[in-house]
Amino acid sequence: MIEPLTRLPDGTIKQVNPITGTKVWTLPGRGARPSGLPGHHPLPIDPDDHDRHCAFCWGRMLETTPEIARLVHGDGRWDDLRGVLAEDLGRTDAQFRLIPNLFEILSYDYWHLAHGWEPTAESRARRTAYLSTPAGREHVTALARIRMRARGTAGAAVEPLAEHDLEREAVGLFAGNHQVVIARRHYVDDATDDSQLAGSGTLTPEEHCKYIEFTIRAMHDLYRDNECARYVSVFQNWLEPAGASFNHLHKQVVAIDELGAQKEREVERLRAEPDMFARWGAEYAATQGLVVARTEHAVAFAGVGHRYPALVVHVTDGEGCPWELTEDQVRGFSDLVHACHAATGVHIPSNEEWHHRPPSVDVPMPLRAVLKWRISTLAGFEGGTQIYVNTIDPWAVHDRAVAQLRQLAADGLISDRVEIV
Ligand SMILES: [Zn+2]
Repeated sequence: MIEPLTRLPDGTIKQVNPITGTKVWTLPGRGARPSGLPGHHPLPIDPDDHDRHCAFCWGRMLETTPEIARLVHGDGRWDDLRGVLAEDLGRTDAQFRLIPNLFEILSYDYWHLAHGWEPTAESRARRTAYLSTPAGREHVTALARIRMRARGTAGAAVEPLAEHDLEREAVGLFAGNHQVVIARRHYVDDATDDSQLAGSGTLTPEEHCKYIEFTIRAMHDLYRDNECARYVSVFQNWLEPAGASFNHLHKQVVAIDELGAQKEREVERLRAEPDMFARWGAEYAATQGLVVARTEHAVAFAGVGHRYPALVVHVTDGEGCPWELTEDQVRGFSDLVHACHAATGVHIPSNEEWHHRPPSVDVPMPLRAVLKWRISTLAGFEGGTQIYVNTIDPWAVHDRAVAQLRQLAADGLISDRVEIV
């Protein structure tokens, strides 16, 4: 076993990820610390643009695909509404919406032709109901044309759209195995300028927990509805440099038909070393002074050997599939992920990547999230050597996060269940 962290005499720190083997060097004097400042001079928000800043904003709901589900909050309750019709989209205030991705990574055709997969009765019923109203039909017709144009399919401009074209596109749209969870706000509620984006860390801890629960439910449903889904990837790209189409908070949930090479290696290693994640996660981080915060059910620490500086959250007392965790365990996980985002700030582009135990895997695997700060650009050196150069080492990530968390806790902006280390 290679030592995950080595400090050289000149101050260079060599990292090797103890799970993946990824090599990262942090070189002294290579500057570029994350500033946390907006990338441009803030501009005032035009009140006329309220709820219409991007296609994920609530005022432009017909630019996104027919909704699968929404979370509505009122009278102290959170309700999950399914299959809202086009005419009713504005009748309730959704805090989070679940929609199919308009341009999915793996299409319905992929699943249908490669695996013989058929849409579930529930998704067929939702499609029939949605298309049964004039606004629903108009909405799906417009989206069908967009999808056909993007693929170069003939007939996209024909008036009216041919019935078989509408039917084919609607099947793919309603049977999507790539979904998006969108949060309500583009900017924080009292924002006056465009630097005041609403990110994961500006949600309340309760809202963030509902966001995580809603995402876990979407993941669970994808596994349930598609027996060929071996893994459901969950991730969040925040800001354009991190791959986001819009600077509007959202997560993606994508079913794939393989575990992927890295997960397969993890499963093999876990058979021989069942405590691998605890040992090389929280325990190793503690020996190196990298633990940032804890809750009763999870731990957050500065990650070792990630391509970008990273904060990592592990559930510490549950090793089943994410939907098998108790409400308290999910809350403990969510509170730390939320705190890590709050400590990062909304102006640092980031990827939040989840790792979890899929139903087909019989070894225990805790739910983990890696929050990567996309503050450097990978280039030819990395491509040629598979060695990643970072400008900020794990201890600096730790120190920055802890300092921010203390301030956030003092201001009451993170959960009081979070114990800062
Ligand atoms: Zn928006």
